[in-house]
Amino acid sequence: MVELSQQVIKEWACNLLNPHTGEPFGPAIRAVAISNDRVAVDLVLGYPAKNEHNLLVDVISQGLQQHQGIASVTVEVSERIGSYEVQGGLAPLEGVKNIVAVASGKGGVGKSTVAVNLALGLQAQGARVGILDADIYGPSLPRMLGLSGSPKTPAENVIEPMQAMGLQAMSIGVLVNSDQAMIWRGPMATQALQQMLTQTAWQQLDYLILDLPPGTGDIQLTLAQRIPVAGAVLVTTPQAVALDDVRRAAAMFKKVNIPILGVVENMSTYICPKCGDEEAIFGEGGGALLGAELGLPLLGQVPITPALGRAGDMGESLVKDAVAHRFGEIACGMSARLAQHAQNRQVRMPKIKIVE
Ligand code: ADP
Repeated sequence: MVELSQQVIKEWACNLLNPHTGEPFGPAIRAVAISNDRVAVDLVLGYPAKNEHNLLVDVISQGLQQHQGIASVTVEVSERIGSYEVQGGLAPLEGVKNIVAVASGKGGVGKSTVAVNLALGLQAQGARVGILDADIYGPSLPRMLGLSGSPKTPAENVIEPMQAMGLQAMSIGVLVNSDQAMIWRGPMATQALQQMLTQTAWQQLDYLILDLPPGTGDIQLTLAQRIPVAGAVLVTTPQAVALDDVRRAAAMFKKVNIPILGVVENMSTYICPKCGDEEAIFGEGGGALLGAELGLPLLGQVPITPALGRAGDMGESLVKDAVAHRFGEIACGMSARLAQHAQNRQVRMPKIKIVE
């Protein structure tokens, strides 16, 4: 029985799909201990998923209990967020494990809204998170996060990140006045951004969300080449014209070897506040189409939520809002895919121990 279980469980462990990525858990299943008809599984995630442990335990226990001769399953879940590889051999940024760029092919699709709420979603899942507003010509983080005043500068070339809703935050909007930034030409703007990124004393971040300027021009390309980014998230609305922009953004990241972790479709539907009906007023299937065409996973769909717009405009947290759980899932799917990219490079079998 033990021999059969060992073989069966080995195959099972290598093939079981992680609901956050749709790919096998692989080496995240570190060890399986078999004691007669009892099985104990040690699952070590490379991403934050505080609110998802029960789901993962259920997936594993239900999968195992289908096998004959297994009476009980216990699953131990822990998290170790790694520092994942960046493009072009760039050196990682001090105090930051992973930089994730949030980009869009054009403005007004809700890129900054998604960036802020993705950061809050990651935080709600248990990660230490920062956010950097790289949108030099239209910084929106000061408004969205309610940042005011200037950051502290304890030493020359050292800027303390500002704090908002538990996030470490920095924006060009709190460093220089907006008229000054508006007249910066491309090279000056990228230099200012690089300085802001490297001179901010980020404190032990698991993720730094980089809210990139909209579009796919020179500034975006230079940033994508010079900043050590582990992965990118693309934001779009469901209309076909927005999807063309996403194709351009995807091509840009491909060119500089930054893995695209997925697409967030914003303003996908409208939920009627009176009857709760959800309607796709801009059409459906755009995100799925991208998935099929470009091989990009759809991380999630965010409905038009008046409260989301209002909260963003007033610098309020959305953690308690109804859409917060969607961003929790998006955060999990995004960070799980980042971990998956690293995992795919190291194929390791789980260790199986027979306890007599
Ligand atoms: P971008 O960064 O792409 O220019 P923003 O995030 O600044 O876009 O969003 C543009 C406007 O749309 C803001 O006023 C924002 O509050 C609002 N908004 C974005 N997403 C939503 C949404 N899902 N529901 C309601 N309002 C939204």
